Amino acid sequence: PDCFNNRANLPRNMIENSMFEEEPDVVDLAKDSTAFPTFPALDPDEVVYEPRSSRLLVRGLGENEMDEDEEDCESSARLLGMSFMNRSSAHRSTSSPYTRQSPPRSCSRPSARTLVVCVLFLVIVVSMTMVLYFLPECTFTKSGCRKQTTPAEPVYPISTNGEMFPWAQLRLPQSIQPLSYELTLNPDLDKMTFTGTTVITMTVRHDTKRIVLHSANLNITKATFKLGDGKATDVTVLEYKPRQQIAVKFSEELKAGQQCVLTLNYSANLSHTYDGFYNSSYSDKDGNKRVLAATQFEPLSARKAFPCFDEPSFKATFQIKISRKPDYMTLSNMPKAKTTSLPSGLQLDEFEKTSVKMSTYLVAFVVANFTPISKNVSETLVSVYSVPEKKEHTEYALDTACKLLEFYNSFFEIVYPLKKLDLVAIPDFLAGAMENWGLITFRETSLLVGKQSSLLEKQVVASVIAHELAHQWFGNLVTMSWWNDLWLNEGFATYMQYMSLQTVLPKLDIGNLFLDVRFRALEKDALNSSHAVSTEVNTPEQVEEMFDSVSYEKGASILLMLNASLPGDQQFRKGIIQYLNQFSGLNTDTDNLWNSLTQVDVSTQHQNVSEMMSSWTSQKGFPLVTVDRKGDQVTLTQEHFLLTSDNATHTSSLWHIPVTYINDTCSLAPDCKQVFTLKTKSETLKVPQSIKWLKLNHGNTGFYIVHYGDDGWAALIDALINNVNVLTPEDRASLIHNMFALSRLGRVSFRQVLSLLNYMTNETETPPVTEALLQLNNIYRLLDKRQETDFVSRMKVRILSYFGSLMRNQTWDEEISVSKQELRSALLETACNLNVDSCIRQAKALFKKYVESNGTAHIPGDLQRVVFTVAAQSEESWSTLLEKYSKVSYDAEKRKMLQGLASTQDTRRIAWILKEGLQGNIIQTQELPLVINTVSSSFSGYLFAWDFIQENWNQLIEKFPVGSFSIQKIIKSTTSQFSTQAHLNQVQGFFSSLKERGSQMRSVQEALETIRLNQRWMDRNLPSFNEWL
Ligand SMILES: [Zn+2]
Repeated sequence: PDCFNNRANLPRNMIENSMFEEEPDVVDLAKDSTAFPTFPALDPDEVVYEPRSSRLLVRGLGENEMDEDEEDCESSARLLGMSFMNRSSAHRSTSSPYTRQSPPRSCSRPSARTLVVCVLFLVIVVSMTMVLYFLPECTFTKSGCRKQTTPAEPVYPISTNGEMFPWAQLRLPQSIQPLSYELTLNPDLDKMTFTGTTVITMTVRHDTKRIVLHSANLNITKATFKLGDGKATDVTVLEYKPRQQIAVKFSEELKAGQQCVLTLNYSANLSHTYDGFYNSSYSDKDGNKRVLAATQFEPLSARKAFPCFDEPSFKATFQIKISRKPDYMTLSNMPKAKTTSLPSGLQLDEFEKTSVKMSTYLVAFVVANFTPISKNVSETLVSVYSVPEKKEHTEYALDTACKLLEFYNSFFEIVYPLKKLDLVAIPDFLAGAMENWGLITFRETSLLVGKQSSLLEKQVVASVIAHELAHQWFGNLVTMSWWNDLWLNEGFATYMQYMSLQTVLPKLDIGNLFLDVRFRALEKDALNSSHAVSTEVNTPEQVEEMFDSVSYEKGASILLMLNASLPGDQQFRKGIIQYLNQFSGLNTDTDNLWNSLTQVDVSTQHQNVSEMMSSWTSQKGFPLVTVDRKGDQVTLTQEHFLLTSDNATHTSSLWHIPVTYINDTCSLAPDCKQVFTLKTKSETLKVPQSIKWLKLNHGNTGFYIVHYGDDGWAALIDALINNVNVLTPEDRASLIHNMFALSRLGRVSFRQVLSLLNYMTNETETPPVTEALLQLNNIYRLLDKRQETDFVSRMKVRILSYFGSLMRNQTWDEEISVSKQELRSALLETACNLNVDSCIRQAKALFKKYVESNGTAHIPGDLQRVVFTVAAQSEESWSTLLEKYSKVSYDAEKRKMLQGLASTQDTRRIAWILKEGLQGNIIQTQELPLVINTVSSSFSGYLFAWDFIQENWNQLIEKFPVGSFSIQKIIKSTTSQFSTQAHLNQVQGFFSSLKERGSQMRSVQEALETIRLNQRWMDRNLPSFNEWL
């Protein structure tokens, strides 16, 4: 799904890559054991899946409680491909329902046969132990292996009925391949329940005695099984709830090549959260509550609606039937084939069988009473659905979707394969949108645009549509094999969303937003808690955590860098067309992509894309490039830009960096750019002796930060003070961003930051101004929270000295240009936040006019947030605003009102609004992360918000799964402004008390790291502030 289009910045951390690149090829040890029929078979499936390109996790998530020895043994066992044999330490984290089976049970009644088997087993055990023993002393671990455990068979868990469950891993066995599903669903929206039948046709890939698939919260009432042309017979379904798996065991082996059919009848409740088959409601224009049901399956929730092989590589076809009351309608991935009346008075809608094979997470259906508007794009009928009241807000989305579909059809040279494409606005929806094939679901704010909406609001809608449409190719047609490569979906869709809009809707000025996205991705990835773009994931929480800034934003950033470094603008496009054609309908990993791109790259400046790009996807972080110029010699040195490096985290990472640079003799035109590939630690390039300055990373298209040294910076600052236009606005913004980042790293003092900012009085362009404001506001907020009142007021004076006149020059009328709207809202929000008189007066006046006109006077979209925020500070206007909030129907406006309401300084109201957000009556629970974020940014609210999440943690993770982007955002909002040891201890104490309820999340590590960094920055710079500010 798309979680990043609300300019939300999300979190990271905790995986540390080992020094070992690939898993040694010793997994075959497992195969022999299939010879023992009395043990649950150890077929090749038992081998833990390790994505080929992923690195081995030695210190990973979840082993905090292990002691050193166990940890080392565990890792060497993994290296030997034996993780399936001794999982005791790995199981500790999921402990409770796991009962350990004692391996020798099958030897307790010694028959001749079992005796032989036991002897054989012993021989194997002894020989394996010897192999282990004689292997060169645990060379795989850092400190060697002091304790060796005897390998044992897998530890099978116990099913709900007390029988042994025949599978012991999170990932499903590969022995069965589903071919097609027939789903019949009967939702009852009065009772909030549904029943279903799932008929799965499968083929046996290799001999096996079990079928294992996913199912969660489904009550299976009947199961039958049919092998080949045989008769269907009843079978028992075993369930192991902690892993959301069910299984059928067979006494005879199913043989490779056979086909079989499993039919499951079940009942369940509609989900009350935002995933699975869930219920949603809204009030219509007469105030009546209307109920509907919709789905959200990515990543792991298809199993909550129907039993299935719920992993992205098990692609199959789907035929779906849904019953409904006559006054409802249904939608699914495919067009409707027919409708029949049932004796019960219900209607049964039958959809065409999917013409493509797809992953389970892309299946979708909706039961509601929405109304559509439609239009044809070549062979595809494009429709936008909403609740009837909001039909008039759907036109912009339809128009934009059609334009983008045409663009992608020709850009990819592969026509969208389905006959219809629905875009549906769902009243309760957590993510921004979800790319279900043929049935894209959206949050209302990501799809609906009011008549008076500003271009800035249209920009949000257009970019979400562009993102989701790109997924129809990247993700739906070609899918990552496993969630470790989620970036292949999300990085690509994010990149394509900006790329397509620059071409299709240039007026939306999407470039500034993309630049901002790259800056924010760098900030995340500078933390030790970050992870490689392509990284190992196993548990559901780890899968959830992949939906983060690294997969989306860094993924998009490195694709831009690659495209910008290739000669000619068609190179990249040719490569992805090749990739899409080669893997159409299939699953891929990161290497497949780089190989496709390498094959196409036949230019004279041949560079190996695969070699270059894997340095960006297989290791976390990014490089700092330091420039040292002596006359015509420029030495470039790279090192890992790591904000918190303690002794344990020394890295010798190297990147293959396509360094771009310009100089004072040619700095603006695109062809001024020169490229130098830095592959080693340090290299020298030659420049004309006469040039005055060099600027690297032209347009900030590269994913690295540059330090120019004292002289280099001084020359650039001089140039800017003389004439800001010697560099493009993007390059100016890039200098500002890099300078602040270097200050955080401790390479430059805050005084140097200020000396760069001296040029700001001449700056009027959006990217540099918004970047500088964002950075200064962050520092202002930190000082404010530390109650450094003297510095807070000096900081205010500073900010006003740079931007005061620009602030005064802003108008409060409708503004046409998106870029100017972005500039204006950033400036005025800062001004009003700093209590600048004229700003407050103007905002109040606009609010008054708005209230008095009874809603007919319109506040420009880009100014609504600042106006509502100012209004909310007075007791009376806050109540007026709340009243408006409950009435207004257009969601973009409603959201800004909510931000206004949440910005109040009145602590009773703060407490009230947090509570309401959790209850979900007046304020939808889907908005709670936004409420928490707004409350946290104010002085009165930030401690409240922190208390609130501690007190309500269990309820929060019920609504927003552990690891999900919503939880990531909540943690970041509530902790990122702490900068003292006391708060660090509190945060650490709280999260470590959570255990399996979230203590191991990367976002927790990121929070702790951020607080330490804030603390360090303050310690370093506060003493000198007297002098500098
Ligand atoms: Zn996406």
